[in-house]
Amino acid sequence: PELFAPDRVNSAGFDLTHAPTVRQIDEARTPWLTHNWSAAPLLAEDVATDATVDVINPADLSVIGQVSEASKDDIDLALAKASVWEAPASTRAEVLNRAADLYEENYGELFALLTREAGKTQLDCVSELREAVDFLRYYASRIPQAEAAGVFTCIAPWNFPLAIFSGQIAAALATGNAVLAKPAEQTPLIAYRAVSLLHEAGVPRTALQLLPGGGAVGAALTSDPRIKGVAFTGSTATALKIRASMADNLRPGTPLIAETGGLNAMIVDSTALPEQAVQSIVESAFQSAGQRCSALRCLYLQEDVADGVLTMLTGAMEALQLGNPWQLSTDSGPVIDQTARDGIQAHIETARAEGRLLKQTLPPQEGTFVGSALIEIPGISTLKKEIFGPVLHVVRFKASDLDQVIDDINATGYGLTFGLHSRIDDRVQHITDRIEAGNIYVNRNQIGAVVGSQPFGGEGLSGTGPKAGGPNYLARFCAPDHQHSGA
Ligand code: GLU
Repeated sequence: PELFAPDRVNSAGFDLTHAPTVRQIDEARTPWLTHNWSAAPLLAEDVATDATVDVINPADLSVIGQVSEASKDDIDLALAKASVWEAPASTRAEVLNRAADLYEENYGELFALLTREAGKTQLDCVSELREAVDFLRYYASRIPQAEAAGVFTCIAPWNFPLAIFSGQIAAALATGNAVLAKPAEQTPLIAYRAVSLLHEAGVPRTALQLLPGGGAVGAALTSDPRIKGVAFTGSTATALKIRASMADNLRPGTPLIAETGGLNAMIVDSTALPEQAVQSIVESAFQSAGQRCSALRCLYLQEDVADGVLTMLTGAMEALQLGNPWQLSTDSGPVIDQTARDGIQAHIETARAEGRLLKQTLPPQEGTFVGSALIEIPGISTLKKEIFGPVLHVVRFKASDLDQVIDDINATGYGLTFGLHSRIDDRVQHITDRIEAGNIYVNRNQIGAVVGSQPFGGEGLSGTGPKAGGPNYLARFCAPDHQHSGA
């Protein structure tokens, strides 16, 4: 049973092909081009803070602000003061809708933060803000009649530092929980701005506190017995650690809602339209510098068409503009930091040494860029881990081996996204019936799930479900007795 009908539409966003809109965005974000932000814990009470840790722009390694990370005292205070949001569901919905409006009004600053703190292109900024406000309004429109679980810890990733950060918080707040939010270490500034806007919209400070910091802050916030639930998006390894620490410290049944990694595959058969497939491949593998958990990692090409598709694909990779994400002409920005770049580039160098690197484009020298790479491998089973960057692996397969290919993809144990390009209905049916993945996309790209119409989340090592942006998500944020009563 839902208190509110989902009479809601997703936000309009911005049309970046419309010159006046582009000028309007430029005017709104330009004042923030040289701004120095600062972030600190935002607790139920004011505390003295000292922002000392520099936050770095990955595109040019300049300092764009400072953050004061949460201390042990801050964590103790936050846990002691956290208190569920007692307001009626209708009030919580109004406040979340107001927050969505404030996000939209502040788009200039938020776009500047997304670009300067997380390396987001303008296209990525537009889709990320849309997704953030859509989460706020969608969850506000679907509040179940149930009790809050209590204090919820939300741990967000740097790759969607506004959208996923806000989505977790919106879900926990809509259902009346008290939230302790820990943003990714790389992106505290936009998190601070988002929480400030949520407070400004009317979320009580006892119901939403921000605790910036690294793994130690996260560990303290997930293992404390006062925590009644955890929403986490990040690596599978960290999710397993959180689950272990919860098992040690928390009563059984405490929800862990985890969205983790993937080894996402796409199959392109000989009936696919090559131009359409190549566009989907490029977007899926290289948009956002491949830093989406939905991104395509392993492309299976039917051998009859493989050479032709690869020729078009390497040409399209050449044409991708890698560079300063502030420029509208840039297709792809930097990866998040030096550590990420070194790890991704090391993987590419191994492939080069083994003679499997088909192509890597030249990256800009400044900042933490990785040139888009294409690596040939014998099969997905040779990939031991998710490479979270602009690296696409490609496998040639024979039509007669299709079922083996499906088995190999399923055998990775992950199951987040899957893409398929084929014009044969029976084959589409057969493959999509057998593939074990949360989000399956046919004859299109496999990134950019849309709130409300494409709930997002995986199976197996890719996550616990329920899917974000879908009708079952909020029930998991409610007290155990109510968890199955939601929509
Ligand atoms: N929801 C995003 C998409 O569909 C991916 C989220 C993530 O990378 O965690 O592309």
